[in-house]
Amino acid sequence: QNTINKIAAGEVIEKPSSVIKELVENSIDSGATAITVEVKGSGLSFLRVTDNGSGIKKDEVKLAFLRHATSKLVTVEDLLSISSLGFRGEALASIASVAQVEMITKTADDVTGLRYQIHGGREISSEEIGAPGGTTIIVRNLFYNTPARKKFMKTDLTEISYIYDLMCRICMSHPKISFKFISNGTDKLFTSGNGKLRDIIYHIYGRDITSNLLEINAENDYMKISGYIARPCISRGNRSFEGYYVNHRYIKSAVLTKAIEDAFRTFVMIHKFPFTEINFQVRPDLLDVNVHPTKMELKFANSQDIYSFTYNAIRETLLFKEL
Ligand code: ADP
Ligand code: MG
Repeated sequence: QNTINKIAAGEVIEKPSSVIKELVENSIDSGATAITVEVKGSGLSFLRVTDNGSGIKKDEVKLAFLRHATSKLVTVEDLLSISSLGFRGEALASIASVAQVEMITKTADDVTGLRYQIHGGREISSEEIGAPGGTTIIVRNLFYNTPARKKFMKTDLTEISYIYDLMCRICMSHPKISFKFISNGTDKLFTSGNGKLRDIIYHIYGRDITSNLLEINAENDYMKISGYIARPCISRGNRSFEGYYVNHRYIKSAVLTKAIEDAFRTFVMIHKFPFTEINFQVRPDLLDVNVHPTKMELKFANSQDIYSFTYNAIRETLLFKEL
């Protein structure tokens, strides 16, 4: 069992930022409205995710660390439904197999919480303690028992930049959740959870971009588009500022990318890319996902419609918001 977990971990858990992605997605799934991420160094020796979500019942904590233990529904349709980011039930098992993990969790109904420790897949302790509602997970010495993996780590600064980028994307795909990211004792990111994407963009990218944002808002019976595109004067030489999310996931779709860029290119002379932060809500039954362990590529049943609706929404924004 533990060998399988370690192999699975090799696929999903590449670096500290992949641990944080899984833990934060669990926190989001738990209904948390405030999530704090804290790391020391590169995150390998210490990282902590704290949420004020549902917590886990005492008798289910051990189970949550078992492979394929998921309390969430598991069908392809559910994969991209709004309610849940996790679905395979292997993140906690994988992480616990390659690190020293401590979890403190308490549900709203319980008077006391549970502190549970598991190192390299082996349970170390399980005890009742006083705790606030929600869950805290501390991951220490990631890859301590898989030295080969550890060798692939980049410098602390690079690993932290991966985590920072990840946290920015998570913040922008969930404007109603308050996030805090602390690295080596310094606040790197804070969002209030007031639901205003514009405030988050301002916080991350500053005034230049924020003062040039045009708001996109369009809806039909199968999709809803909301977010921002910067005026064409803010164009970029590559795609790295083209952010978008589908049903709160940072996920790539050739059709959406093309629609966004085609609409934008009707306003710029040369080969330029836009700054965007767009949230797409698409009816889950229209989605098809090719799932690889690390990357996901999205397909739509009605890609031509999706293309036209998105293209028009963005083109109209660029045309009329300027007036
Ligand atoms: P998945 O998210 O795919 O279900 P995970 O291994 O990530 O699988 O988590 C296993 C289970 O542990 C989840 O289904 C959930 O019930 C529980 N869980 C994990 N993290 C949290 C959390 N922060 N708050 C509440 N429950 C959690
Ligand atoms: Mg999960």
